[in-house]
Amino acid sequence: MFETVPNGLLRGHGNVTLYLSEGESSKKKYYDVLIIGSGPAGYTAGVYTSRAKLSTLIISGTLPGGQLMTTSEVENYPGFPSGIFGPELMMNMRQQSERFGATIIDDEVIKVNFKKKQFTITTHSETYVAESVIVCTGASPRKLGIPSEQKFSGRGVSYCATCDGPFFKGEDIIVVGGGDTALEEATFLTKFGKSVKVVHRRDSLRASKILQEKALENPKIEFVWNNVVSDIQGDKKIATVIVKNIASSKEMPLNAGGLFVAIGHEPNTSIFKGQLDLDDKGYVLLKDYTRTSVEGVFAAGDVHDHRYRQAVTAAGFGCMAAIDVERWLSERHIKK
Ligand code: NAP
Repeated sequence: MFETVPNGLLRGHGNVTLYLSEGESSKKKYYDVLIIGSGPAGYTAGVYTSRAKLSTLIISGTLPGGQLMTTSEVENYPGFPSGIFGPELMMNMRQQSERFGATIIDDEVIKVNFKKKQFTITTHSETYVAESVIVCTGASPRKLGIPSEQKFSGRGVSYCATCDGPFFKGEDIIVVGGGDTALEEATFLTKFGKSVKVVHRRDSLRASKILQEKALENPKIEFVWNNVVSDIQGDKKIATVIVKNIASSKEMPLNAGGLFVAIGHEPNTSIFKGQLDLDDKGYVLLKDYTRTSVEGVFAAGDVHDHRYRQAVTAAGFGCMAAIDVERWLSERHIKK
């Protein structure tokens, strides 16, 4: 039932607790697949791997359920014609992965060692050993970093126009940023808003020419150049955004029923530096399909995908990674 693995541990197949012999007090556990992260990618991967009878551990991270736990209604996830609340969708996904036997631990991974097999993954309270890993740690929207931002988050401040745009019908909307996302979101938001203002910290845009042309030609979009958001004001929800001119430091109030922050995302990959190949922005680089630079380590969702960033695409990537893991494990076991 148990076999000795190179690091001297006893290993069993399934969720078996392993006790170290000398000097070490902590328990170690072995899994066929360890999934780091619990957004749509992580839970979907967990549904597939556990259903494929691979012992599966999902370590959820600091925000179990991921970014969707902070959104309200999700109207564009297929299968829910009347929409579904983000937290409810994530609870459903969590239960679905548990139904097939995945173990979920609400803890945060603080260290990984992908340099040698089996891989070790350390949380605040435990070290786990895994034959394969799926990295699903996602990305976090970059924040403005002003004190009032947190206060109005979910009360007019949003980080995803595709997700929340339709809730801002007839409002004066402000978008912050000068990249592709900001202009794409501003253009999208003109379908709903009474007005859309793009506040950008420079007087030229980073966005691609085609998106620039589209936004600059749109009569509903106005640009507020060389300004940053210095404060957000309102009672129960946002009413006014204060912008500050970079050169003169002069402040100006803008009416706002909604503020979309589109100043980029930061992939949650700090623990993988030096372990996996990352691109210059820190996203996990894939070799082919969902394989990373380390054989046996796969990635799914926003942690590698900065293009689509949708719950449904992340879930799709989770499914793909799980299938890739299953094949990789079975190829190796056949070869053995
Ligand atoms: P991005 O290209 O990094 O642009 C971020 C924008 O936010 C920049 O204009 C930046 O200003 C501004 N910014 C950054 N930090 C700020 C701060 N603290 N305060 C105020 N402004 C700040 O991010 P993105 O637009 O999300 O795009 C990410 C990637 O996805 C890009 O490679 C993009 O091409 C791609 N993308 C492609 C499409 C498409 O092809 N349809 C759509 C969306 C995204 P500066 O310009 O002054 O640095």
